Amino acid sequence: MTTQAYDENNIFVKILKGEIPSHKVYEDEHTLAFMDVMPQAPGHLLVIPKTGSRNLLDADPAVLLNMVPVVQKLAVAAKQAFEADGVVVAQFNEPAAGQTVFHLHFHVIPRREGEPLKPHSGTMEDQGVLAAHAEKLRAALAS
Ligand code: 5GP
Repeated sequence: MTTQAYDENNIFVKILKGEIPSHKVYEDEHTLAFMDVMPQAPGHLLVIPKTGSRNLLDADPAVLLNMVPVVQKLAVAAKQAFEADGVVVAQFNEPAAGQTVFHLHFHVIPRREGEPLKPHSGTMEDQGVLAAHAEKLRAALAS
């Protein structure tokens, strides 16, 4: 049982640095939230810290302290924006648990009764749809 070190060349660091595009929903000093490119349901977004850690297991607790209120704020906004019945907040640690990107992140996924979740890391969504969903979320945050 080995755990690899944090690799700062991961894709979410490239998003943080603006080296690859993303549909941003929220940003503050410590945290960024943006749309998941392969949403499991409409409105699926990711919340990441600006500080690097591989996942929850090696994260500084102070980083978590900054993140959780943002996750809550976005879960409330996602429920409102997508007229959802509930919201999944998910977080995977290491490949055995389903993690595919090794920079700590929380998934926020609005859920509607009777609508099944699409597969994790399944199909790439249309960029126009993601842009519209990010806009809906930003509007809900501002309301
Ligand atoms: P994990 O499997 O590590 O919990 O989740 C990684 C998530 O990142 C997946 O849901 C996947 O769809 C998403 N993802 C992977 N690459 C990118 C990317 O380049 N941009 C965005 N916005 N999301 C990504």
